[in-house]
Amino acid sequence: MKTALVCGAGGFIASHLVRRLKREGYWVRGVDLKFPEFSPTVADDFMVADLRDPQNCRNAMDRRFDEVYQLAADMGGAGFVFTGENDADIMHNSALVNLNVLEASYKRNVSRIFYSSSACMYPEHNQLDPENPNCSEDSAYPANPDSEYGWEKLFSERLYLAFGRNYGMDVRVARYHNIFGPEGTWRGGREKAPAALCRKIAEVDNGGEIEIWGDGLQTRSFLYVDECVEGTLRLTRSDWAGPVNIGSDEMVSINGLAEMISQVAGKKVSIRNIPGPEGVRGRNSDNRLIEGKLGWRPSAPLVDGISATYQWVESQVDSARS
Ligand code: NAD
Repeated sequence: MKTALVCGAGGFIASHLVRRLKREGYWVRGVDLKFPEFSPTVADDFMVADLRDPQNCRNAMDRRFDEVYQLAADMGGAGFVFTGENDADIMHNSALVNLNVLEASYKRNVSRIFYSSSACMYPEHNQLDPENPNCSEDSAYPANPDSEYGWEKLFSERLYLAFGRNYGMDVRVARYHNIFGPEGTWRGGREKAPAALCRKIAEVDNGGEIEIWGDGLQTRSFLYVDECVEGTLRLTRSDWAGPVNIGSDEMVSINGLAEMISQVAGKKVSIRNIPGPEGVRGRNSDNRLIEGKLGWRPSAPLVDGISATYQWVESQVDSARS
């Protein structure tokens, strides 16, 4: 039986990843500071542990793993990453986790390890035009991420690649672009735009008004979590290290996303744009490299994932009210 260790398995993407690995027949151990919030873990073994502590990383690897997935990070949406208030924690906590997990993997002779970097590592100067952002993988340098979160991701992806070069580990690095879906954080300050807008629209009456940070003309692309997991597994099991974008190339403005969600919700909603943290002006996944290397690219229409996510967020809003 194949075995996998999933770090960050109490979080959004990694809990979907655990489910997928279980469906494939893997024996899976999850590790996180917390259990998944919205449904019980399906991992065979789940360690509640702080991966900033090297001993916990060694304990998590007390057996052989065919694949290690490192998704644990101190992270959140724009309200967490772009205010500046959490910069020290973001850099310190996530860097420690990455250093410790990688060292423990090396010492345990884990050969294949996946690391989730982020599109936030791309230079700000290539993302000033909302209609024409450049996020091709080779545009990463000279580096100039717009957040400390992006700088830490850049450091850690280089760290993983260096272990690959110097110690012969099969590292795999993906740059995720705005992943969304059911069972993602939807309130509390760490939620990202799709979940936050689904919540606002689920809470407002038909004909009501919602607030959006910035002028709403900033653009992004959003990838449904199932396709993110698919891309993660395809990359990990390929013979190529990356780094590679795993994202959608269906670009939409934030106001446009809100309009899509209100249509899915069957509500007429007006938008009030207010000052707030917003990040770069434009971002879109460039999928030429993933298609060339893996013969696969995400292809599901945004509206399909938004429908599933809205239904789920609406059910959360309803049960929080009752
Ligand atoms: P998430 O916050 O839901 O999951 C991260 C998990 O890491 C959390 O459950 C958290 O408790 C855990 N964690 C944090 N510090 C830890 C520690 N010291 N020890 C043990 N566990 C710890 O986030 P997510 O959206 O599922 O993201 C997963 C990964 O993908 C992260 O590395 C994130 O940076 C990256 N990523 C996500 C997106 C996105 O849009 N969601 C985009 C780009 C990159």
